[in-house]
Amino acid sequence: MPEGATLVWFRRDLRLRDNGALQAAIARGGPIVPVFVLDEAAERPHGLGGASRWWLHGSLAALAESLAERGSRLVLRRGDSGEQLRALLAETGARAIAWNALHEPALRRRDDALAAEFRAAGLEVTVGASGLLFDPDAVRTRGGGPFQVFSPFWRHCRALDWQRPEGERAPAAFPALRRGPLSDVLESWILRSGLPWAAGFGEYGEPGEEAARRRLQEFVRDGLDAYAEQRDKPACDGTSRLSAALHFGELSPRQVRAAVEAAPSESGVVPRSRGAQMFLDELGWREFAHHLLWHFPHTAERPLREAYASFPWLPDAAVQRAWQRGETGYPIVDAGLRQLWRTGWMHNRVRMIVASVFVKHLLQPWHAGAAWFHDTLVDADLANNTLGWQWSAGCGADAAPYFRVFNPVLQGEKFDAGGEYVRRWVPELARLPADVIHRPWEAEPAVLAAAGVRLGESYPQPLIEPRQGRERALAALAEWRRSQRDGAVARETGGRV
Ligand code: FAD
Repeated sequence: MPEGATLVWFRRDLRLRDNGALQAAIARGGPIVPVFVLDEAAERPHGLGGASRWWLHGSLAALAESLAERGSRLVLRRGDSGEQLRALLAETGARAIAWNALHEPALRRRDDALAAEFRAAGLEVTVGASGLLFDPDAVRTRGGGPFQVFSPFWRHCRALDWQRPEGERAPAAFPALRRGPLSDVLESWILRSGLPWAAGFGEYGEPGEEAARRRLQEFVRDGLDAYAEQRDKPACDGTSRLSAALHFGELSPRQVRAAVEAAPSESGVVPRSRGAQMFLDELGWREFAHHLLWHFPHTAERPLREAYASFPWLPDAAVQRAWQRGETGYPIVDAGLRQLWRTGWMHNRVRMIVASVFVKHLLQPWHAGAAWFHDTLVDADLANNTLGWQWSAGCGADAAPYFRVFNPVLQGEKFDAGGEYVRRWVPELARLPADVIHRPWEAEPAVLAAAGVRLGESYPQPLIEPRQGRERALAALAEWRRSQRDGAVARETGGRV
């Protein structure tokens, strides 16, 4: 029998299966004290957004229930993680502590310091595998540096061995202390109240490990083979919707990858269907995003391509508010932003379009858009969000060049050809025919009248006409490049030109 209990510190691994820290505690034997600490200061300035708080509440409630079914009890504490863990170690007499690694730079620094402190105090410390397939430190180019381009990064990773999930069965029961430590009541954290806009979040999905497992099974059975064709159509339920589950660790990426690789493909041949391969590539983008944030921690605040910090954005609160509310006058953009507000989630293709319009047609700084996403997405994830926004703004790794400006009309017509997605989320345009639904400002007055649309009243005129927006963005880029060149010349000549 080991000496003392083991604290299992849950963070973004809110599951019982394939959980290295929990398995280590079970293997050690003796009582287990599962704990979650709400440490809001640790992640600032990128702390939990409103929609994430909503999801976290559900996920913790589900974890607490699963633990209770196994004779255990989740202890909830709020405040500085170190202080709370020290207090719990003292209260329980635990001699061991286990957690799974996180790779966000500030959190990893904190965790490393705590591990060193606890080890120095004679505790057994176990740090299990993170919520990634590959440790970002272990993935290096031939020159020993980090990757900055996705394809070679993922090719390199695919050739590496990866750890399979550790069993698909959740532990049946594990021993608890006879008198467990006091716990906060989840409701007292008011993670869900004060969020009047959350009524439709259930439409995206349900928090918790069991719900995530059901969704994964359904997707692998019904969605995987069609993923290649459906994933870019926002009107279809063609993607996995596992992003929040992956962020909060209700599922590990190992479990997702293993389920995909074990799925019989429609043709029954290996390599798997194109859909399965493309889906695994998306998990690769998630790995890439975390790899970048780990190696370039400044990118959460500043562009990876640092020169872009001086890009001549035109920050405008009224423009940003119209974009946030889905009142830009571009139907596909407004549909996406309203889907986000109502459900806490937005389709990936539409994320790319709304981000592109924000940074290009509207010339708003990428980090203002990223901050809105961070607050309103249930799957808000610092690494993925930073990559997505810097990719869109042309200032990140492997990014779309800034001069490639998505046309929101053509994007809408290509990916929402019949206008179904716009009709769903922008009901005031629902009666417009498909040939003008993505460009209502070009519709004949009679067509608008027949559909009950009064431009500028029932639905806004575009904030800027697409062609004009594109030209303005390219002019800003040209001006910025000129200033970069002049700056470089001035530096080379010591200011003499
Ligand atoms: P699926 O298509 O089913 O993909 C499966 C999983 O792969 C996702 O759950 C996700 O974990 C990962 N993934 C897919 N696409 C990407 C990608 N481009 N980059 C990194 N990982 C990816 N994703 C987040 O999880 N959190 C964010 O905060 C976030 N912000 C974004 C911001 C912008 C501007 C853009 C363009 C993309 C952002 N993404 C973000 C990536 C992507 O849009 C979402 O992961 C995806 O829409 C989630 O839906 P899904 O689970 O159905 O995806």
